[in-house]
Formats: sequence, C-alpha cells, structure tokens
Amino acid sequence: MAVLDDLMIEAARCINCKNQPCVLACPAHNQIPELMKKVRIGDFDGARQTWHETSVLSEVCGVLCPHEALCEGHCTLNKLQKPIKIGWIEEQMSILYKDKVDYPFNKINKKHLVIGLGPAGISNALRMAEYGFEVHAFEKESSLGGAVYTHVPDFRYDHFRLNHFEHRFKELNIQVTYNTVVGIDVFLDDLIDQYESIFIACGLDKPTEIDITHDRDLKIHYAIDLLNRNLYNPNDLEEMLGKTIGIVGLGNVSVDIARTLIRLDKEVHIIYRRTLEEAPASPSEIMEAVNEGVYIHELFGPVNFKKGQSSKVLDCDRTCLIKDPDSSRSKVEVLKDQSVAFNLDDLIFATGQKSSYQVFRDSKVHLVKGKEDYLTNYPSIFVGGDLVNKEKRIVDAMVSGQTVAKLIWESL
Ligand SMILES: Cc1cc2nc3c(=O)[nH]c(=O)nc-3n(C[C@H](O)[C@H](O)[C@H](O)COP(=O)(O)OP(=O)(O)OC[C@H]3O[C@@H](n4cnc5c(N)ncnc54)[C@H](O)[C@@H]3O)c2cc1C
Ligand code: SF4
Repeated sequence: MAVLDDLMIEAARCINCKNQPCVLACPAHNQIPELMKKVRIGDFDGARQTWHETSVLSEVCGVLCPHEALCEGHCTLNKLQKPIKIGWIEEQMSILYKDKVDYPFNKINKKHLVIGLGPAGISNALRMAEYGFEVHAFEKESSLGGAVYTHVPDFRYDHFRLNHFEHRFKELNIQVTYNTVVGIDVFLDDLIDQYESIFIACGLDKPTEIDITHDRDLKIHYAIDLLNRNLYNPNDLEEMLGKTIGIVGLGNVSVDIARTLIRLDKEVHIIYRRTLEEAPASPSEIMEAVNEGVYIHELFGPVNFKKGQSSKVLDCDRTCLIKDPDSSRSKVEVLKDQSVAFNLDDLIFATGQKSSYQVFRDSKVHLVKGKEDYLTNYPSIFVGGDLVNKEKRIVDAMVSGQTVAKLIWESL
C-alpha cells in the first residue's frame, strides 16, 4: 500500500536524537524516536503498541494536537525546515488500526464511573476498561467526543472517526448512558456509594465574557454557542447573523468560528488586543483563516458596542504590548486617544470558557484547589481535563484521564 511506503519513508528521516526534544515537548511523552524506528522497518504492529503505551487517543491527537508547538515544533530537523511529520504518521497509524481493541488480561471486580466523555473521559474509560474494571459512564450529549464532537467543525475533523471509540467502548463493554446530565437527571451524591471510583471530566461549558459596555438591546453572541448550533443546523447561523461579523479573541475557538462563517459567505473580522505572535491559536490555523479571507486586526481592545446609523459599531482602543519579565506574555497597555470604530452587523465573543460546575450541584464533593493532581475531597473521586488543567488542550485532557486511571489501578 502506497501509504505504508510513505509512512516508512517519512519515519526513516528521523535521526534518533539522543536528547529527544520531541518526546520532552509531547505532554504524553510519546516515545517518538522508538516509534519512528519501528515504522521505518515496517513494524507497524510494534509501533501501534508503543503508541498505545502512552496514548489511547491517536485518532484525535494525530489530527488536532498543535504539533507545531509541541513535538514537531521541537524536532531537530526544524533546522533544515523539515521536521518529521509526526502528527500525520500518528493519524495514519490510527486509521490503520481503527478496529484494534486492547482487551484486559484479567477482570477486576470493581465498578468505575466516568462523568463526561470528552478526550479526558474517553481516555480514562478506555484505560480503566483495559485494566479490567467494570466501567460505566454518563454523558450529557448523544455522542462521545466532548468539544471535539460538539464544537470542532467538520472541515477540521472528520467526526466519523469518533466511531472508532464507540467500537472500542462496545467491545470493552463500557456502558454509557447518553443524554443524561449529572446535576440535573442524576446526582453525584447518589452515585458515590454505587462505584468504587469516579472520574469527573465535564470540561468547560460556559463562555467567559470580557468587560465592555454595550447598548442593552444589542445581542452579543458567543462562539461556542454558535459552533454547537452549526453542528446541528448551519442554515441557522447563515440566517441569524448579518453580513459583517466581528469576533473578539484569537484562540482555537475564534479561528474555528471565523472559518465556519467564511464558509457561510460572511465578511469576518477578528479583533485581538495582542499580536499574532502572542495568540493562543496555532500559526498554521491563523494562516489558513487569512488565506480563506478572514481579516485579523491586531492590537485593538474592544470597549463599547452600540447602534450606529446603518450598522452597529464596535469602538476599540488601540493597544500596545509591554514586555513582562515575570511572564512569557506581555502586558497589554491602552494607547490614549487613539480609538477606532469597526462597523459590524454582529459581534461574537471567543474569549475563553469556564465551568458551570453543574455536575457538583447539591453535592458534598468539591475540588481540592491549588493542586494539579486531579483530587477532590473524596479519595475515590477524581477530576481531570479542562475542568482543572492549566493547558486547555486535547492531549493534556488525555494525559489527565490516563494518569488518574493509572493512579486508581496502582492503588489496588
Ligand atoms: C472550537 C474548539 C476548538 C478546539 N480545538 C482544539 C485543537 O485544535 N487542539 C486542541 O488540543 N484542543 C482544542 N480545543 C480544546 C479541546 O477541545 C479541549 O481541551 C478538550 O476537549 C477538553 O477535554 P475534556 O474531556 O476536559 O472536556 P470536553 O471536551 O469539554 O468534554 C466534556 C464532556 O462532558 C460532558 N458533560 C459536561 N457536563 C456534564 C454533566 N453534568 N453530566 C454529564 N456529562 C457532562 C460534555 O457533554 C462533554 O462531552 C478546542 C476547543 C474548542 C471549543
Ligand atoms: S527530534 Fe525529530 S529527528 Fe530527533 S528524534 Fe525526535 S522526531 Fe526524530
């Protein structure tokens, strides 16, 4: 098969660096040089096994990990402008082994519950089932995948691939109750005594606002709401939004909604108070957005959104960045008397997410703050994913799910 030859050729370019910068840069510490060695000689089974030791989410990470900031960005071959295409190799391997299931050696007579089946919950459920636990899960939506299913647009991720996980869940007898919200339909405290351990990975379900003034009757939209709506009915967005759209923020979510709206023939302006270099979105995604026709305005801080004569107006301050010796990010300062107005039909915030903590409603369980070790005030209940992670990325969510599974397994 041509793709296997291509995989072997690409992997053969790896020079097996002694200090392994790619491994250090990967939050999961995938053993990349060893993987490349196996792929190079056509030992695909062996490579899959090595991958599986550190990652159960290759179907997602291969495509959506910000490789240019992580493994590929740290590859020594960047010096020749030709890093190994690690993400592509992982993606192809996951397609090759889509039906592979890692069955447990022994059954463990203990029940484990996962709440929320995003990247963190999926990883935790798979690992626990592979260790031999009896795993149950509650999920609010009608499918697993979390934000990858509910928000990441089709043009960036083929959602059909989530079926690979459905297949593994079925084979490992992981019992999922979909369309069920813990905190509304069932309550955490009623579940505590039914399970030996619980992993909570409910992600961030609410948008954060930024502090701007606006005319009371002007609606401000939130990118995560619109992306979710787009999943079910793209025509909705086309009709509910005007032609010229402003988006505040420049992370993944901002770029995803911008590229979605470009596909609906809108004129899209991203307004960002920092520079492209300091944006959380990856440079390649920003580039794609610009190539598709999205306008990006750096160093503008929104202040007020009001009705104008023929459209709506977003008043922005001009900003500048001041280097902060204590931080990797600069401080934003406003330049006096230099405001600029953007004429818009609609304004969208893409300025981050927070948790509603709905899962903890009426519960005695709470997070133990100030620690990144996934603990709650109950020794058998753990948390993970975006809910507690500093880095809000798929790979970090996966690492939390796997780490907690290992912790529980090792405590037996
Ligand atoms: C538009 C967008 C694009 C992104 N792009 C990227 C990217 O390219 N690369 C990257 O690394 N990261 C990206 N991210 C971030 C990434 O999606 C998250 O870091 C990751 O999904 C977090 O995983 P999680 O399992 O913690 O939470 P989530 O993915 O949010 O999953 C939480 C799950 O819990 C369920 N749930 C919530 N509350 C309850 C409840 N009370 N009861 C039952 N179930 C509940 C939800 O329905 C959901 O399925 C993106 C995020 C968004 C929004
Ligand atoms: S840094 Fe690049 S070349 Fe070096 S071991 Fe990692 S993948 Fe191979």
